[in-house]
Amino acid sequence: MSYFLFPHESEYIHFHGEIRDAQWKKEQMIMADINGIKRPRVIIVGAGFGGIHAAKALAGKDVDVTIIDCNNYHLFQPLLYQVSTAVLAENEIAYPVRAFFRQKKNIDFFLGKVTDFDPQQKRVITDAGELSYDYLIVAAGATTNYFGMDSVAKHAFPMKTLNESVAIRNHILNIFEQASKETDAQTRRELLTFVCVGGGPTGVEEAGAISELIYSVMAKEYHHMDFSEVDIKLIEGTDRILPMMPKSLRDEALQVLRGKKVDVRLETQVMDYDGRALVFKGGELVKTRTVIWAAGVKAVPVVEKLGAPLDRAGRVIVLKTLQVPGCSDVYAIGDSACFLQEDRPLATIAPVATQQAEICVKNIVHSISGQPLQFFSYHDVGSMATIGCGDAVMFRGIIKSKGFIAWMLWMVVHLMRLAGTRTNLLVILKWLWNFLSGDRLGRIITQHL
Ligand SMILES: Cc1cc2nc3c(=O)[nH]c(=O)nc-3n(C[C@H](O)[C@H](O)[C@H](O)COP(=O)(O)OP(=O)(O)OC[C@H]3O[C@@H](n4cnc5c(N)ncnc54)[C@H](O)[C@@H]3O)c2cc1C
Repeated sequence: MSYFLFPHESEYIHFHGEIRDAQWKKEQMIMADINGIKRPRVIIVGAGFGGIHAAKALAGKDVDVTIIDCNNYHLFQPLLYQVSTAVLAENEIAYPVRAFFRQKKNIDFFLGKVTDFDPQQKRVITDAGELSYDYLIVAAGATTNYFGMDSVAKHAFPMKTLNESVAIRNHILNIFEQASKETDAQTRRELLTFVCVGGGPTGVEEAGAISELIYSVMAKEYHHMDFSEVDIKLIEGTDRILPMMPKSLRDEALQVLRGKKVDVRLETQVMDYDGRALVFKGGELVKTRTVIWAAGVKAVPVVEKLGAPLDRAGRVIVLKTLQVPGCSDVYAIGDSACFLQEDRPLATIAPVATQQAEICVKNIVHSISGQPLQFFSYHDVGSMATIGCGDAVMFRGIIKSKGFIAWMLWMVVHLMRLAGTRTNLLVILKWLWNFLSGDRLGRIITQHL
């Protein structure tokens, strides 16, 4: 068994394999003292928007930081739909965590899945060992919420991770190959029916992008198929899509989607799906092999191990300082946290996570130096959604924009948030190329049905 030294506490954790001898451990302790690194240790769980932002804010400060994530990359989730529809490739929306902190010696990375927390002993338990902390930031994000519908969870496609969006891409491309060989008209229609559930930005963007992929790209290449057999549906339980937008922009989005031959169904609730038949409340049934679920999220399950009060979506109900109730050295931010502003929980969106990361880091620094802690308050930065290549809606305060200008703004905002110059250049070139040529050369099947 080998041991990993925690210099600030002169204690060890064990993980994987062999034994390091006592001499090695002694040397490590001496080195730790010589380097004077008995500094507060901050553990950040999750290398998403909140976690990376917090680590960047802690870089160069008098603390040692370890980011734990079950993936070695930061994922830009807002563009998952573009991977699922063959616009972008996997490495264009994911960035290695260590690469962010090449020059930041006080930031380290630990690849592992957190399975439990021990706030009494100030330990985080992972499948690759245990780590001690002085301060903990839980930024572990969210997972798909099927609202208790097990059949839907079993058969629908979620879109929360890179693998899930690649699975959707493979499925759509495979389905087309299958449909092109299918001689039975009824089965072909079933194969060519694509359903997105959830009228928020993800569902709207996915439905619009599937429509473009099919009618602008596939239609030019599957010479013997009848594209009037294709049916794309967007299903929304309430009476509106993009609920955060003003009515004029919601209407615009509806009109654009319908223009793209997307059958938008409002006030329609999914009750069941067995992989072949999607059943709505009221008994209506749609035969389809493809249901993409973008209807809700809940906190990742490990968050409940903190033993703190949770909301209905499993998120920790944090204090105004973003601390977890009962654990003054533990903070929860982003999609793992429920922060009540004017008695309403904030949305699970990236700007909430990044703004919370800033205040949470300030509070940790203040806590170390004995200063009073700050309260968090979210500053609305507006919202936007693409409805297709060259078309978007955008809303901030009194500013509303739609069409090509909103799409340009959407591109700028997303490029600013993407990691790395190389990625930015690649992505902007691809977007422009797709816009001008209508091409989607990322249509690579990496797994067959
Ligand atoms: C398809 C999609 C589209 C979206 N579009 C937008 C958009 O357009 N605009 C917007 O503002 N927001 C959008 N969001 C929401 C936004 O991505 C999230 O609000 C944001 O990522 C939350 O940041 P976070 O740091 O809380 O969590 P995340 O960014 O989800 O990061 C959580 C991290 O924790 C890691 N993790 C989870 N569990 C464990 C564990 N047990 N052990 C170790 N590591 C773990 C994960 O691997 C991940 O890296 C979208 C989300 C999705 C899924």
